[in-house]
Amino acid sequence: MIQIKRTSSAPSVLSTSSAQNRYNRPSVVKALHKMQHGKCCYCEDYIPDSGRGKEVEHVRPRSKFPHLAYDWNNLLLACTACNGAKSDQFPTSPGGDLLILDPSDPALDPEDHVSFIVKEDGDIGLGSPVSLEATLGLAIPRAGSPLGEETIRTTKLYQSHHVKKRRDTLRGLRRCYLGLLYEIKKASKGESNAIKVETLKNELRDFVGGDKAYASLARAFVREYRLARLGVHPNL
Ligand SMILES: [Zn+2]
Repeated sequence: MIQIKRTSSAPSVLSTSSAQNRYNRPSVVKALHKMQHGKCCYCEDYIPDSGRGKEVEHVRPRSKFPHLAYDWNNLLLACTACNGAKSDQFPTSPGGDLLILDPSDPALDPEDHVSFIVKEDGDIGLGSPVSLEATLGLAIPRAGSPLGEETIRTTKLYQSHHVKKRRDTLRGLRRCYLGLLYEIKKASKGESNAIKVETLKNELRDFVGGDKAYASLARAFVREYRLARLGVHPNL
């Protein structure tokens, strides 16, 4: 989950039409799709720009906040899995604090709250390291964030189909990283291949772009392996 920069101009149909489902109009869907680089606001998987596979998401659910049903600032685009998982949930603390991340909130960076296990020997804090098969690609609250934990629970980012796709991305990241280490080792022996090194660094940089699927996962990988020391930074 990455922060989504909301475009300031709302599609006009939201204010000019009186149709009950006008938040679902193609102009709204298209604007959200473009704003989110074609990705689900929660899981960051790519979603199609037409047809099925996506739904307009009300961060504050219509059932509880009917006055925000057509409020541009309350609309995002989610894949059917995430939208179905969240449904009309809107968890708050007993004190009324919001317990689910709004990826378009400019005051909160979702990456400060939701991260992922990107290392084969990941330790999820249960007392002992657990196996690769059990943990790799899992979404975890960053630094124990309660907001991250509740968001993962509410949107079911723990579901196996999400984890499988994250593992596919991690395989690509790992291939580039190991290739880079190999080239750096060769260079230390006087067998430098500067073009290969730069190509691999650019491939790694490509993963973290906000328009790439699972960018927040790739950024967690870059942080975990401290790739900034090699000139690959988690944020472009
Ligand atoms: Zn999704």
